[in-house]
Amino acid sequence: MTLPDRAAIETMDAQDPLRALRDAFILSPDEVYLDGNSLGVPTHAAQEELMRAARDEWGGELIRSWNTAGWFDLPVELGDRIGTLIGAAPGQVVVADTTSVNVYKVLHSAMGLRPGRNVIVAESGSFPTDLYIAEGVVSTLPGAQLRLEGVDGPTIEDMLTPDVAAVLVNHVNYKTGELRDMAALTARIHEAGAIAVWDLCHSAGALPVELDAAGVDFAVGCTYKYLNGGPGSPAFVYAAHRHLGQARQPLSGWWGHARPFAFETGYEGDGGIRRFQCGTQPILSMRALKGALAVWDGVDMGELRAKSVALADLFIQLVEARCAGFGLALESPREGARRGSQVSFRHDHAWQVMQALISRGVIGDFRAPSTLRFGFTPLYLRYVDVLRAVEVLEEVLKSESWKDPRFAVQAAVT
Ligand SMILES: *Cc1c(COP(=O)(O)O)cnc(C)c1O
Repeated sequence: MTLPDRAAIETMDAQDPLRALRDAFILSPDEVYLDGNSLGVPTHAAQEELMRAARDEWGGELIRSWNTAGWFDLPVELGDRIGTLIGAAPGQVVVADTTSVNVYKVLHSAMGLRPGRNVIVAESGSFPTDLYIAEGVVSTLPGAQLRLEGVDGPTIEDMLTPDVAAVLVNHVNYKTGELRDMAALTARIHEAGAIAVWDLCHSAGALPVELDAAGVDFAVGCTYKYLNGGPGSPAFVYAAHRHLGQARQPLSGWWGHARPFAFETGYEGDGGIRRFQCGTQPILSMRALKGALAVWDGVDMGELRAKSVALADLFIQLVEARCAGFGLALESPREGARRGSQVSFRHDHAWQVMQALISRGVIGDFRAPSTLRFGFTPLYLRYVDVLRAVEVLEEVLKSESWKDPRFAVQAAVT
């Protein structure tokens, strides 16, 4: 394949059906932001919505806003909006709490739906919080066990023994970007009689997801990555209709009660998705998320996916052509169909190289021990941004400017 030159890359931008969406975002013209898979970029709409809620509702109607501004129903309203992006019919998604907390709720619920089985299967390469939470779930259930793909068995498919109650899978691996086949693996999990729980943190808003069609039981995901809801914006949880009546989520707070304002003594879970809420939700963060979700109106997920793959393919092609011989090794699947919306390269000095890139306005991130991670967010990235990022990477590697001692200092958040 011939290497596209600048003119060819500018033509890709001119022909990009999503190019107008960039204007919705607040971006620095001097930077290339390749970290939308960790913290998404604000839209003008998100900031306006946040300001309106803070100024006119909290600062105006005060407590009346729970009713007059729709605060109370916001978690389910936003849940249904996110549902349209992840293939979930209305009434199965609610925005609440954090992904970590929601993993706890759904794993515990899943265990309750499979009495007599006591094993949770997860990936050793999972995003760690999912495993930490699974350990917590196991610690509360006498006899329960956590088994890990890559430690207790070679693949999830090999580990589906009759004692497995629930399988927790990351749709896209946070480090390598590898994409799992959701429909096929869910079918295998069901054949084995277990419950399929999917973590969509790196796929919601990054690629088409079809939860209902795949027959998924439960799913969780965050809204501050590809959904651009803002730092720490609340997560979402999906429970398939067929489980809503029976699933008993353990964090049985009043917002999940059938009649929260009846102030009854005993808990009775709501019959619908509201049951997966716990306590009072962060309304200001939810309003920023509401504004952020507006950008998706009319976005064709097929076009989004095609651009995501094309941006990442271009990046891989340019990096391998221009930065060969500097110790980079592709860690992500080469084939676009097997990859989420990110590209990772291994490098012995990944931390320093990334710090040098960031100092020059190319923002990606580092994942221990040696991964340079670049996220490609099709809503606002241009093909010329990919070219710019590779030019800077080439410069950093050739000049060895990453060896500057100031790039060796580790920060708390990577
Ligand atoms: C980002 C991410 C999380 C984050 O969980 P929080 O509770 O929001 O901190 C969890 N799981 C995966 C797979 C992630 O990528």
